[in-house]
Amino acid sequence: MRNGKKKHKNEKLTIILIPNSGNRAKRLSLTYRQIKGAIMAVAFLSFLLVLAGVNIYQGRQAVSEAKRIKSQHEQQQQQVMELNNKLLEMEKQRERIEERQEQVRKLVGVSSSLTPTATPSRGGVDRNSRTGGTRDLREISAEISNLQYLMDEQEMEILQLLNHAQTNIDQLKAIPNYWPVVGRITSTFGYRQSPFGRSREFHDGLDIAAPYGTEIRAAADGVVIQSNRVPGWGRIVKISHGNGVVTSYAHNSTNLVKKGDRVTKGSVIAKVGSSGRSTGPHVHFTIEKNGKPVDPLLYLP
Ligand SMILES: [Zn+2]
Repeated sequence: MRNGKKKHKNEKLTIILIPNSGNRAKRLSLTYRQIKGAIMAVAFLSFLLVLAGVNIYQGRQAVSEAKRIKSQHEQQQQQVMELNNKLLEMEKQRERIEERQEQVRKLVGVSSSLTPTATPSRGGVDRNSRTGGTRDLREISAEISNLQYLMDEQEMEILQLLNHAQTNIDQLKAIPNYWPVVGRITSTFGYRQSPFGRSREFHDGLDIAAPYGTEIRAAADGVVIQSNRVPGWGRIVKISHGNGVVTSYAHNSTNLVKKGDRVTKGSVIAKVGSSGRSTGPHVHFTIEKNGKPVDPLLYLP
């Protein structure tokens, strides 16, 4: 068997190529081993070619993927830069709001920030990286959180400042500095000769003469605590303005408000008359502070 196989291996195959032109035929004698070798070589070369092809294809894929990743990266960097710029604008805007807040504080008479933690952290966590160039996404995210925190505080303080402003306005409205009627002052606050006799008397208010029926207006916001007819004063209206301040309007021809009514500065409360102990149509206007009469001209403009 061994010999047979060896013999078989050494056998030759002859390929005869016969040209059509009638020239001599060419012979090609090859052993089985040579043929096998040739087939193996062709197979191996084909394999190499396929391998090369796959490599080239994969290489191209890799290059286009790299290009895609590169452009994606550039795009992201661009976006990060835009985010940075927007963040910078927001920080500047927040600082401008802070400056406005300071102006409002001064207006309402508050000396320093109402939210105690606002000042130390002001300016953000990343001041260094802000000057050092573009912040990365992590830093941007941290700064956004910081901004959010600061703006929450600002919102809180603005609400408190609004309360202060409202209180100030309410206090201003409760100051009796509105003339009840426009007219001639016929008698001022203080000691005077009595119009009904020779005796000296203390006049606890201001007499303002005005035509009968002229509208009398509240000198400030307040609550009516008295509206009736009293011997001597005739028809009288008293208004409490808070903080121990009370105004009264006497000798009226008509009272237009009743006890418990809320009135605002300048609203009509009565009409000028000469009821009670009076020598002619006028308003007897008084201002009391904690039960003691004060000169109305100290309040009236
Ligand atoms: Zn009087």
